[in-house]
Amino acid sequence: MSRWRGRRGRVTPKRPSAGQEAEPLSIVFALPSVPDDAPAALKSSMALRNVATMNGMCECGARLELVVAGGMARMRMAHEHECPAGDRNVFALYGAWRSAR
Ligand SMILES: [Zn+2]
Repeated sequence: MSRWRGRRGRVTPKRPSAGQEAEPLSIVFALPSVPDDAPAALKSSMALRNVATMNGMCECGARLELVVAGGMARMRMAHEHECPAGDRNVFALYGAWRSAR
């Protein structure tokens, strides 16, 4: 089974160029699948993160933003410091789980 699953979505860039109307872009999301043997806290954090990404908004209030620069686009979501779906918490839980295996 693949570790990644995709989802198509539509995102409108936050800041269109001056004098231009924003055009919706087609986006493909690649989300990690939650490992069956992961600890409950990691499963919960990853699931929350995936749902936040698919919905474009997290329970902590963070919103998915499209950043376009130099012809490249990337997504970012600035979670609250203590949000379990945030980079800091998910990566810490994942790192601890991987190093204990
Ligand atoms: Zn969050």
